[in-house]
Amino acid sequence: MIESSTAVLPASTTVLVIGYGPVGATIAALLGRYGVATLVIDRLDEILLIPRAIALDNEALRILQMAGLGEDAFARIAIPEVRMHSPLLGQFARANTAGSIDGHPRLVTFYQPELEQALRREVAQWPNVQFCSGLELLDLQQDALGVTAILKDAAGARREVRADYLIGADGASSRVRNLIGQDFQGTTYAEDWLIVDAGQREGKAIDHVEFICDPRRPAPHMPAPGGRERWEFMLQPGESAAQMEQPEQLAALLGRWIQPQDLHIERQAVYRFHARCCDSFQQGRVFLAGDAAHITPPFVGQGLVAGLRDAANLCWKLAWVCRGHAAPAILASYDSERRPHAHKMINLAKRMGHLIMPRSQLKALLVHGLMRLAGLVPPLRRLFEELKIKPANHFASGLFVAGKSSGGQLAQGLVKPLGSAILLSDEVLGDQLSLVGFGVDPQAGLDEPTRTRWLARGGQFLQVGLRGQRPAGNTRFVEDMSDALVPAIKPGQLAVVRPDRVIMHSAPAAQARQLLEECLALLD
Ligand SMILES: Cc1cc2nc3c(=O)[nH]c(=O)nc-3n(C[C@H](O)[C@H](O)[C@H](O)COP(=O)(O)OP(=O)(O)OC[C@H]3O[C@@H](n4cnc5c(N)ncnc54)[C@H](O)[C@@H]3O)c2cc1C
Repeated sequence: MIESSTAVLPASTTVLVIGYGPVGATIAALLGRYGVATLVIDRLDEILLIPRAIALDNEALRILQMAGLGEDAFARIAIPEVRMHSPLLGQFARANTAGSIDGHPRLVTFYQPELEQALRREVAQWPNVQFCSGLELLDLQQDALGVTAILKDAAGARREVRADYLIGADGASSRVRNLIGQDFQGTTYAEDWLIVDAGQREGKAIDHVEFICDPRRPAPHMPAPGGRERWEFMLQPGESAAQMEQPEQLAALLGRWIQPQDLHIERQAVYRFHARCCDSFQQGRVFLAGDAAHITPPFVGQGLVAGLRDAANLCWKLAWVCRGHAAPAILASYDSERRPHAHKMINLAKRMGHLIMPRSQLKALLVHGLMRLAGLVPPLRRLFEELKIKPANHFASGLFVAGKSSGGQLAQGLVKPLGSAILLSDEVLGDQLSLVGFGVDPQAGLDEPTRTRWLARGGQFLQVGLRGQRPAGNTRFVEDMSDALVPAIKPGQLAVVRPDRVIMHSAPAAQARQLLEECLALLD
């Protein structure tokens, strides 16, 4: 990436990204990988240090892996469980977050500025991506061929950039959203929350997440890397931000956990939470992603995760269109695939809000008591304990062949290429559209013209063998070492896997040609 001052602002680019927060940075890293000429601008020069996202799930970590971030790119703490406490009933529920899904821990905590630095380092290696700070988007105009963005530089001068496509990753107060006339439907909560990060908590912080569901002062509490520990306190009517952020007030709030002489406040901020979503994530050549498109209270730690899902879903589609591998019509599937799921996550966070912050002692007793009773019934307990209430990331409609794919993702497991070390299977899938044969050579039933057309549309071939199986044919081969992939798709089956790991189609190997024709038709 070229990181530059506004003096070398290009006159045009393929994709212009407004906002270099974590979602804009993930978009830049993905477009960098896909080889799309990209310009990212932000009105700020530096990464924001205020306390914001702290938790990520396995899906978010898989997307960050897709964007190029390895295990050690940023520090994380795996969280084995989430406990819900009531002052009257004690622990009334728990969620089991131990273990991993698709090669990543089910829940971790992290330090957002460190993640953003890691993303910017990753972006820096792509010569096709340029970042210009100190530029604010003022206006935009679309026509049949592209978008003109009107910017203001740090000296107040007006600048213009022309782009084929524009992505608004400009956060909750998105100018892009306003400029394309999108309402931000939903609610703003009546309460303020004080977020406090304390430092120097090595060996003293808790090792899990706890929600203290006290109607007088609800307070989620969790550890974070770098010897940090976080508390989030709901403020009562009449309590002002200025008053609650006073050192003696913070010491009193944390007195239950930390003696005043051991208290090292690293940062604090007061927020009002919102649950809002746009009616559409796309208007013509302009897209919204991250907080610009949807915003949720952080009770299930899914705000940034949803933004990362947007980035993974949108970027490969844009890349395929910009590289001439697909028609612009496929871009409409970004909204139809992402928006319903973003809504479901907002609704889950709202439901969790009712658990965490019941309005009265009576309601708290009722809601928490019911949760405790439900815990005695195994199927009901599992709903919460095994996170079955979390909406699966499956699409009802979109860019896949209905009836041949559930619109869900291929699992990730450990695989071993011939003569190489074991690695995570997404590393083998890479940045391509893949025709994968499970226990069979995916090219065996293909004629040369279909094969050539597939390669010309950004396709590749991969054979995944059962454990102990040897390759058939000349297709690149990996052995499924953890039995994660093959059971999901039966031996003898083929699947087309999109670069965001969503299964586009699957069919028996004998139908290889028809399967590819149907996928190619989807891209036309
Ligand atoms: C207290 C709290 C706790 C949270 N906890 C979690 C959690 O545990 N897990 C989770 O997943 N999420 C959590 N979130 C949500 C998460 O922090 C956000 O979803 C995420 O930071 C949004 O990233 P973004 O890139 O979309 O937007 P932002 O980070 O807001 O970035 C937007 C960027 O756009 C720039 N910009 C804005 N307007 C313009 C303009 N006109 N021109 C140029 N640049 C512009 C801004 O300077 C900024 O850099 C939490 C949020 C809060 C407040």
